Amino acid sequence: TMAHSKALLVLENFIGGKFVPCSSYIDSYNPSTGDVYCRVPDSGKEEVEAAVRSAKAAFPIWSSKSPLERSQILNKLADLIEHDLEAFAQAESKDQGKTITFARTVDIPRAVYNFRFFASSILHHTTECTEMATMGCMHYTSRAPVGVAGLISPWNLPLYLLTWKIAPAIACGNTVVAKPSEMTSVTAWMMCKLLEKAGVPHGVVNIVFGTGTKAGEALICHPDVPLISFTGSTLTAQRITEKSAPHCKRLSLELGGKNPAIIFNDADLTQCIPTTLRSSFANQGEICLCTSRIFVQRGIYSEFLKRFVAEAKKWKVGNPSDPTVNVGALISKEHLEKVRSYVKKAQAEGARVLCGEGVDSLALPTGNQKGYFMLPTVIAEVKDESCCMQEEIFGPVTCVVAFDTEEEVIERANSVKYGLAATVWSSNVGRVHRVAQRLQAGLVWTNCWLVRDLNLPFGGMKASGIGREGAKDSYEFFTEVKTITIKH
Ligand code: NAD
Repeated sequence: TMAHSKALLVLENFIGGKFVPCSSYIDSYNPSTGDVYCRVPDSGKEEVEAAVRSAKAAFPIWSSKSPLERSQILNKLADLIEHDLEAFAQAESKDQGKTITFARTVDIPRAVYNFRFFASSILHHTTECTEMATMGCMHYTSRAPVGVAGLISPWNLPLYLLTWKIAPAIACGNTVVAKPSEMTSVTAWMMCKLLEKAGVPHGVVNIVFGTGTKAGEALICHPDVPLISFTGSTLTAQRITEKSAPHCKRLSLELGGKNPAIIFNDADLTQCIPTTLRSSFANQGEICLCTSRIFVQRGIYSEFLKRFVAEAKKWKVGNPSDPTVNVGALISKEHLEKVRSYVKKAQAEGARVLCGEGVDSLALPTGNQKGYFMLPTVIAEVKDESCCMQEEIFGPVTCVVAFDTEEEVIERANSVKYGLAATVWSSNVGRVHRVAQRLQAGLVWTNCWLVRDLNLPFGGMKASGIGREGAKDSYEFFTEVKTITIKH
C-alpha cells in the first residue's frame, strides 16, 4: 500500500555528484525481521552509461592531481565516516543482519582505515630505474592511473569491501563506477552523502545500485571500463571473465574459500579453541576467510571436540542490535535454506551433528521470529569427499575431522578446488614453516587468524581468485606501467 511504502527507505544512484532516482526498484529485506524495509534502484544499461560518462569526464582533472592532494581528500573522507561511525554501524547491522558489535568493531572501523591506509601508502611508492652503462642508457618505469575502474562487491562485508576497492582506485588517480550487492546497498549510499564535503570532485566516485545480472553486467561489458575489481563467488567470476573477454579487461578476482584449520597435538588449545570458534562463526560464518574444515591430530581429537562443542553452544544467537549477541541473522531466506540443506546432506551421509541446526533448539525474541537465524553448527565424522567438505557453505557451519600425520593432512587440506586461507596450530616452529610453505592458500595464519597487515598481498589461489590486493599490489593493479629508456 502507499501508506506502507512511505515508511520505506528509498535509495538513489549517485552519478556525477548528484543523487538520481531510478525508474524501477528492488525490495531489500531486514534479515533479522524478514521485513522489506528499503528500496534499491534496479539500475541497468542506461544508468551505468550515465555513470561511466561522468567518471570518464572527471578522469582528466582527478588523475592530474598530485598524490598528496588526493591523499588529503581520502583522509577527510575517513574522518567523516568515522564521525558517523555509530550511524554507519547501525545501518550495516540492520541491512546485513550482522551483529551491531561486529559492525562497530570490524566493518566500519576497517572502512575508515581503508581510506587512511591508501591515503598514506600512495605517498610512498617508488618506481624502478636501471642502468646499461655499456649502451649509454638508463631505463626507468613510470606509472599512471588507467581510467574508469568498475568495482563490484558482495554482501558479507558491505562497506568494508567496497572501500577496500574505492580507496586504492581513487588514490591512484582513477575514477570509479561501483556496484555494491543489491542485498546490502545502504551504507554505500550513506557514504555518497559525505563525498562532496570530503572534497571528492563530482564524477570521481559514482555508485549504481542494482542486481548483478542487470547493473553488474552492464558495467562489466562497458567498453570504457578497462579494469574490473570483483569480490564475490567463483561462479559469478567465471561469468564476468567470459563477458569481459571480448574487451581484454584487466581483472582482479577475490573469490570463495573452503579454508582449513590444521591443529597438531602440540597446539596451545587455550588460544586455538577461542580463535577457531571465531574463525568458524564470526559474522555468521559469512566471511570468505572463515574456517570450515577443521583437521585435528588424533592425540587431541576427542578433547578438542568436547571443548570446541561446549564453547560453540555458548554463542548467543538473536537480535543483532543486542550487544550481547554473538550471531546475527544470515543474509537472506534463500541463503539460510541453502546453508541448512548442507547440514541435512551431512546427516544423510552418516555424519554426526554435534550441536546447532537440527540438534538444539533456537529461542528467538518476539520481533525476530521471521528472521533468518541459525545456531552455530559443528559436524563430525564427515568424509573428505562430502559436499560439506568440498563446497563453500558460507554460514555458521564447520566440520571437524581427525588426522594422523603431517604429510597426510597437507594432502587432505589441499584437496579442494579453493585456495584462499588456512590456519595452522602448533608450537613447533619448524613444523609451522614447513606446513605453511606447502599449503595451497594465498594466506596462511599460524597460531592466529585474520591478523592483517594491509601492506602485504591479499588474495587466493586456484578457484579462490586471480590477482592480489594490498599496498603494492593494489597500486600495481590500479595503474598502468611504462618503461622509458634514455640514451645519454
Ligand atoms: P556473488 O558473486 O553472488 O555477488 C557478488 C557481486 O557480484 C554482487 O554485487 C552481485 O550483484 C554481483 N554480480 C552477480 N552476478 C553478476 C554478473 N553476472 N555480472 C556482474 N556482477 C554480478 O557473491 P555474494 O553471494 O554477494 O558474496 C559471497 C561470495 O563472495 C562468497 O563466495 C565469498 O567467499 C565471496 N567473498 C570473497 C572474498 C575475498 O576477498 N576473496 C571476500 C568476501 C566474499
